[in-house]
Amino acid sequence: MEESVAPLKEAIDVIIEAGGESFKLCYQCGLCDTVCPWNLVKPFMVRKLVCEAQFGLSEVEGENIWQCTACGNCIARCPRGVQIIDILVSLRRIASEYNILPQTIRVARGSLSGEGNPWGGKREERGDWSKRLSIKTFTGDTEFLYFPCCTQIYDQRTRKSAIATINILKKAGVDFGILGSDVVCCGESIRKAGEEELYIRLAKENIKTFIEKGVKKIIVSSPHCYQAFKQEYPEFYVNFDLIHISEFLVELINAGKFEFTKKYRKKVTYHDPCYLGRHNAIYDQPREILEKIPGLELVEMTNSRENSLCCGGGGARIWMETPKGERLSDLRLEQAMETGATVLATFCPYCILNFEDKALNLKGERGIEIKEVSEIIQDVI
Ligand code: SF4
Ligand code: SF4
Repeated sequence: MEESVAPLKEAIDVIIEAGGESFKLCYQCGLCDTVCPWNLVKPFMVRKLVCEAQFGLSEVEGENIWQCTACGNCIARCPRGVQIIDILVSLRRIASEYNILPQTIRVARGSLSGEGNPWGGKREERGDWSKRLSIKTFTGDTEFLYFPCCTQIYDQRTRKSAIATINILKKAGVDFGILGSDVVCCGESIRKAGEEELYIRLAKENIKTFIEKGVKKIIVSSPHCYQAFKQEYPEFYVNFDLIHISEFLVELINAGKFEFTKKYRKKVTYHDPCYLGRHNAIYDQPREILEKIPGLELVEMTNSRENSLCCGGGGARIWMETPKGERLSDLRLEQAMETGATVLATFCPYCILNFEDKALNLKGERGIEIKEVSEIIQDVI
């Protein structure tokens, strides 16, 4: 009698319970593997991981389940609507239950749990970055809450983009305030690391503060905060009026709230962050802004808009080490330089961190500046 391979039902149930149910839809066409950016630098078969989940044969000890950057390229192409990121996150949730996780994720988790941010900064110092900028503390009478990303708060380089944003908002006469140490990390990335309970704790703390302080309209700089507030916090039955800074800047420019007083005589290429573009379909606004800046020449990279190449920092990989030669950000920087641009502009603190890392090591080669779009605007108003 032929022996049949029975799926390991218990393991399958655990994956389903952890949110990975859509593996059932996969018919193993392999399209996901052909578009996954990892295959540009090393072999990574996500289809195999989905197949293993179908048979309850998933392994959660190895590196494989930590590879995905949640870039969303496979999901955009999958003919069966398999939610591949959810499947990988469900495996990470199981790994988290067994406390099998990369050391760097463990460190980020500890910092988030104790201090409300992933970068080891002290919670009581969360508002320090803005002390000299004379920004209002948000009260119920303030129109907008500006919610910078933890990265912008605790990292000196990306903080420049938050400062540029503040300067533009002030110039445009926007009524806004910040909430310093009353708020914590949005929790988006640690959720993708499988730390669901910690995510829920962070999200609930922010939601409670927003409601208590009377927050209705929120401006964010990071596509990851945008994703959390727009797509994920509604699971708690709340909906804030959320605007990404790229959307808001278009509105301010079109309403004539500030003028460009100088020319920006540079060739610029724009990188679509995965969580702004593919996950939230904001492609036009950043380009509209750049095209309105006098003197600026906008050029496109080989992979742009829906086909943008991930920087490698999503899906909690911003906290993981990627060996040289395997960094997607390096490939992206090469694409940017191929356009002849001297500036690579984007709208995400994670992308900036990853690109700056490579840009700093371009000794002897023709360099390229990395800019958040707000930093470019600040230079010409
Ligand atoms: S693209 Fe979708 S259906 Fe095809 S192998 Fe990948 S997950 Fe399965
Ligand atoms: S989300 Fe991106 S990185 Fe993750 S498996 Fe899909 S294509 Fe690969």
